[in-house]
Amino acid sequence: MKMKYDCDLISDLLPLYKDDICSPSSKKIVEEHLSECPSCKKLLADMSDVTIDEEIVKERNEVINTQAKFFKRKSALAGSIIGLIFSIPILVCLIVNLATGAGLTWFFIVLAGILVAASLIIVPLMVPENKMFTTMAAFTGSVLLLLGIIAIYTRGNWFLVAASSTLFGLTMLFAPFIACRRPVNAYVKNNKGLAIMSAYTVTFVFMMLCIGLHVGIKAFIPMAFAISMPLVATCWAVFAIIRYLRFNACAKTGLCITSAGVMSGLISQLANTAAVAASNTGVTYSTSSLPLMLSIGGVGILIAGIGFLIGMFKGGKKNENK
Ligand SMILES: [Zn+2]
Repeated sequence: MKMKYDCDLISDLLPLYKDDICSPSSKKIVEEHLSECPSCKKLLADMSDVTIDEEIVKERNEVINTQAKFFKRKSALAGSIIGLIFSIPILVCLIVNLATGAGLTWFFIVLAGILVAASLIIVPLMVPENKMFTTMAAFTGSVLLLLGIIAIYTRGNWFLVAASSTLFGLTMLFAPFIACRRPVNAYVKNNKGLAIMSAYTVTFVFMMLCIGLHVGIKAFIPMAFAISMPLVATCWAVFAIIRYLRFNACAKTGLCITSAGVMSGLISQLANTAAVAASNTGVTYSTSSLPLMLSIGGVGILIAGIGFLIGMFKGGKKNENK
């Protein structure tokens, strides 16, 4: 039996037929041919199984998964070995401490010290995901634990000061990294700067309160806050100017300088008030620099004004071009 169309032509049409995107007349031709030709029917059946693309994607994913599993196993093994090495000094110190002191005293300091090292070396090797977040959290936790144990061992009452300062310092260091990585980036989205600034502010105020509690609230808090809060407010102002205002760089620079001038003026005034309020603490603060600070603010306003003029000039030009 002679067929109307040859198999080459039909096999060219088969992919279109399979995806149901050929014309009705081609469809009819293919179906007629398929009813007569077992070899083309077989070709279509093979095609319907999986396309080449799907096959390639599947294979690639398998390779990636195998590699990932391999590296996970390797890093878990490395983590276990390092853990074992770390446990040797822990065991030695346990025995020595028990033998000499007949009690566990400085052993806990050694243990916490080793935990600090482990948090940086073993945690990133062992945790499957959110590596950076987990590592930094583990490091912060173990450093605080170490401080706490040393404070207990030496009967020091400085723990809150040390812990809150450490927390503030580590937040300064880690917050920019943590905000950009999982899982935190999913929550802060486009407000990373805002989240980082908030973390800085909260840990800073906490540190100041802890120091205040330690050295005496009346002597420390009014003066410390009079000086530091305008600084914090200026940081926020500079952050808001740079991050959220849509002016040109010159205008932003001017506004930032103005904020710095206003801050310096505020510090002079507030510190003076605080010094008067706590006059019995013997703290005095000179306000003679106030005119200088105000002139800094004036220079800032001048630069900002130039920036705005440039912006208006450029904006006008842009509109002319349109
Ligand atoms: Zn055929």
